[in-house]
Amino acid sequence: MPAIGIDLGTTFSCVAVVKNGQVEVMQNDRGNRITPSYVAFTETEQLVGDAAKDGATNNFKNTVFQSKRLMGRAYDDTNVQSDIATFPFEVIKGSDDKPIIKVTHRNATRELCPEEIGSMVLRSLQETAQAFLGEKIRDVVITVPHYFNDAQRTATKDAATIADLNVLRLINEPTAAAIAYGLDKANNDLKTILIFDLGGGTFDVTIAKVKDRNIDVLATGGDTHLGGEDFDNRMVEHFAREFLKKEGISIYKNPRAMSRLRKACEHSKRILSSATQENVIVDALCDGIDFKGVITRAKFDDLNSDLFDQTIDTVEKTLNEAGLKADEIDDVVLVGGSTRIIRIREMLGELFEDNKIRKTINPDEAVAYGAAAFAANLTNDVTNEIEQFTISDVTPLSLGFEVRGRDMCTVIKRNSKIPITNHSSPTTAFDNQTSVHFKIFEGERPATKDNHLLGSFVIDELPPQPKGVPTFDTKFHIDSNGILTVSAYHADTGQQKEITIAYGKERLSTTRIKRMQTAAEMFKKADDEYRAQSEARNKLEDFVYTVKKSGNSRTAKQTILESDRQTILKKCHETEKWLEYHSAAEKNEIECEHKKLKDLCSKYSLL
Ligand code: ADP
Ligand code: MG
Repeated sequence: MPAIGIDLGTTFSCVAVVKNGQVEVMQNDRGNRITPSYVAFTETEQLVGDAAKDGATNNFKNTVFQSKRLMGRAYDDTNVQSDIATFPFEVIKGSDDKPIIKVTHRNATRELCPEEIGSMVLRSLQETAQAFLGEKIRDVVITVPHYFNDAQRTATKDAATIADLNVLRLINEPTAAAIAYGLDKANNDLKTILIFDLGGGTFDVTIAKVKDRNIDVLATGGDTHLGGEDFDNRMVEHFAREFLKKEGISIYKNPRAMSRLRKACEHSKRILSSATQENVIVDALCDGIDFKGVITRAKFDDLNSDLFDQTIDTVEKTLNEAGLKADEIDDVVLVGGSTRIIRIREMLGELFEDNKIRKTINPDEAVAYGAAAFAANLTNDVTNEIEQFTISDVTPLSLGFEVRGRDMCTVIKRNSKIPITNHSSPTTAFDNQTSVHFKIFEGERPATKDNHLLGSFVIDELPPQPKGVPTFDTKFHIDSNGILTVSAYHADTGQQKEITIAYGKERLSTTRIKRMQTAAEMFKKADDEYRAQSEARNKLEDFVYTVKKSGNSRTAKQTILESDRQTILKKCHETEKWLEYHSAAEKNEIECEHKKLKDLCSKYSLL
């Protein structure tokens, strides 16, 4: 059973596999090599990918996207709050402080957590792979952003578990892109590369050294809220203003009009990556008035110039952090759909040299490509090319615990290579202290109140002793998935406490995951039933049509007794009525009607 690689993106996802020693990116049922990370709920079914995105303008309240931004985060998280403000679908606070997405599905309210939405996207990619490979697929390598913390990584794994996938490994997106680069480059010399990943909603810069299949990450930077959708929004604002000026109609508060305009803008934006000018047309945009606008590449670049500049600033900052100058970068790897924008390529060409911008790697597919190669690597399903990859990743944030009730004591520094184990020997702060509360934080700030609390545990029943006497051996371990385990051992009492941060409050409980798996199965069954039913209905409708047509043909009139012919036509009419009045009929009921009509036709030798 081959293992697949999945790039579970904020806006688009991609799935690849190694087959006959080659990485193959697989096409979904629409023939597309990337699939929108969208899930939509309708009166009758649950849609994923292109179908969900296509229907979004007519069903925006029940079309869920960018759920990756909510995964592994608390509802009260400021990032979550600002994202929710822009989502057209409803997000409420769940019982355990998790964000919960509320939609209407099959005329009933349904509450889903972000992991469940993620699982639906994963399941659809799994189906794509199964259709391509013709066998059941369970093993998978999934990529996550470099800056994802424990809770977010665990949430990604939980999403996979709900989809009944077995995660061999989570790897970082830039690392996967670096693997794709490693497979693409001609020789094995040491290269320092810069990975520039500009997607739909996020921007990531990674600097790494690559040699002989070893990938060593040196520094990372980026912006979690910068990408293609911001460029779309600039265009939307521009044209909404134009429409207001020309027609005197404001569409800002009309979500349907805004969403239709956004769709048209995104489409035109893509074209501007090859053409220099494009029309933006929306029929009956508002109050029945058509919209027709023109955008030139120069205007598009102008509308976004500050955002484009921002990406270059971030590149410079990250180079600085790595202690490198632009001319010390050997190759620039472009990742993410938005790197197709010509102006972005030009700006990178100015900062580095034009010939350093790698153009042979597909920016939409690089991450899934690398993930698939790595998956094959892990399952030994490899060729010489892909075989010996070892990756060395770094932690995106410093990790430590609180001392004196307020200060951060860092145990693992930011940008440390993982896997890693570090020890520390804290002691008590007061005389006769009988318990110690270990609070684990991530972040760069000296005061813990400014960092992010990951979890805590208590060692108590300590014998009273002067402060500074009791000592604890504290161990911080990050495994190759980036998941943190912290333990503390008190030798005098033999007490040992341990937490895997993955079990923090942002994590889903096992029972909850089980429940979601059941829900996923149930809805999948319902969807399958719906499709079967709809297929049977289509077949019967087609059949009635055919029977009517041949029943009215000249041959039938000549060969079949008129009364028999009328019986058949009457039955056709009845069947049509039956279909009309039984819109919720099940597959077998429909097939039963189909059989009745068919039998009648055979009886009178029609067809
Ligand atoms: P993700 O953020 O999920 O990783 P992608 O890397 O697939 O997503 O990037 C998606 C973004 O790329 C979208 O905003 C899309 O509009 C944009 N995009 C795709 N093709 C082009 C193109 N030819 N020109 C400009 N932008 C593009
Ligand atoms: Mg991406």
